[in-house]
Amino acid sequence: MNIILLGAPGAGKGTQASKIKQKYNLLHISTGDIFRANIKGGTEIGKLAKSYIDAGVLVPDEVTCDIVKDRLTWDDVKQGYMLDGFPRNLFQAKELDKFAKIDLCLNIEVDESLLMDRICGRRVCACGESYHINTLNGSTTCAKCGKELYQRADDNPETVKSRLDTYNTQTAPLIDYYKSQGKLVSVTSGEGSPDDVFAEICKILG
Ligand code: ADP
Ligand code: ZN
Repeated sequence: MNIILLGAPGAGKGTQASKIKQKYNLLHISTGDIFRANIKGGTEIGKLAKSYIDAGVLVPDEVTCDIVKDRLTWDDVKQGYMLDGFPRNLFQAKELDKFAKIDLCLNIEVDESLLMDRICGRRVCACGESYHINTLNGSTTCAKCGKELYQRADDNPETVKSRLDTYNTQTAPLIDYYKSQGKLVSVTSGEGSPDDVFAEICKILG
């Protein structure tokens, strides 16, 4: 099974992806993670992507599509995968249809008013876990692996404003795109706890 995780920044795509991965053994492919790994490694792609990411706008389609297209040629995708953060506009969605077979698009619904606080209060771990300062009770380390938590460079109010804007104008139209393909399933508990959201997703995935 190949699925797309759709939702605004801060909707909880990454959090759910890590739960889905554990239970359903699907590969988690996150374009944001791929870009951040490239920035950390100082690669050409990383150098190019950084200015766009810092500004909260999309990295050019050609670069992004090539990365995903290449990733989907690896052998491990046969086990089924989740795309997180891709596609992010109609062009990418149409490209994806040329090189992948998507079964389902899960749209995690969260009211926009909650997103700024969710993202700016987010602390992440190198292992992939993420937390919110409201539930960390002052802890600065990962409950899963013990490493020090940090804040993503683009999780600041100014960049988040731009990311939300980018989402509304470019990504939200994908809801109708996948609806018209009969692949869209709404996850309506997106404002609930991560476990509530995951329970709904499990019902959908069976
Ligand atoms: P979030 O969903 O919380 O905004 P991501 O980690 O998915 O975080 O993305 C971070 C940034 O990486 C985006 O703001 C964008 O600049 C870049 N990016 C990620 N995926 C794509 C994509 N499919 N196309 C273009 N840029 C992307
Ligand atoms: Zn960790």
